Amino acid sequence: MEPARKYSLPELPFAYTALAPYISEEQLKLHHLKHHQGYVTGANAVLEKLDKARKDSTDLDLKAMLKELSFHIGGFRLHDRFWENLAPAGKGGGGVPQGDLAKAIDDEFGNFERFKKEFTQTATSVEGSGWAVVTYCEKTKRPLIQQVEKHNVNIIPGFAILLVIDVWEHAYYLDYKNDRAKFVESFWNIVNWDRVSRRFDELKK
Ligand code: FE
Repeated sequence: MEPARKYSLPELPFAYTALAPYISEEQLKLHHLKHHQGYVTGANAVLEKLDKARKDSTDLDLKAMLKELSFHIGGFRLHDRFWENLAPAGKGGGGVPQGDLAKAIDDEFGNFERFKKEFTQTATSVEGSGWAVVTYCEKTKRPLIQQVEKHNVNIIPGFAILLVIDVWEHAYYLDYKNDRAKFVESFWNIVNWDRVSRRFDELKK
């Protein structure tokens, strides 16, 4: 068992080779084992510093530390969600949403194609590094598309995530160089709509 009160890198729900050709083994390994791990290490380092300062009663540069902490925790959580909403093409990945999720998308966007177009534009137009996310607002019962810059520094995300894509360059540069649009186009082949639907069903209960 992992020691409590710390982050640890979750295993991927598929093999490193499983998302090819849309995400290659090399790209996926690098992303998971280096970048996602980087946020685990980063968050734990800040938590250790906080623990130590509290124990020793020393002062902290809270402004800087909390910014750093939110960067790493945001990165950790968004990656977690991202892996979960992917699946190998044709084996759980791709296709279109079904059931209540499909209906909610139609109600909000008119139809799936319109949703796909808006989400694609959201992902391709993130300034610098960031994410495109579909969240769910429990107040209005509406799915919302949101853009996240970096990992939403200094913001505790207040919305449950239904679907997310990582558009940091580290997510695609080995496979697509700087062609983010091509990566986003490929993403639709490996979306695990079943998983997204289950998240939606849990939230609207
Ligand atoms: Fe990433």
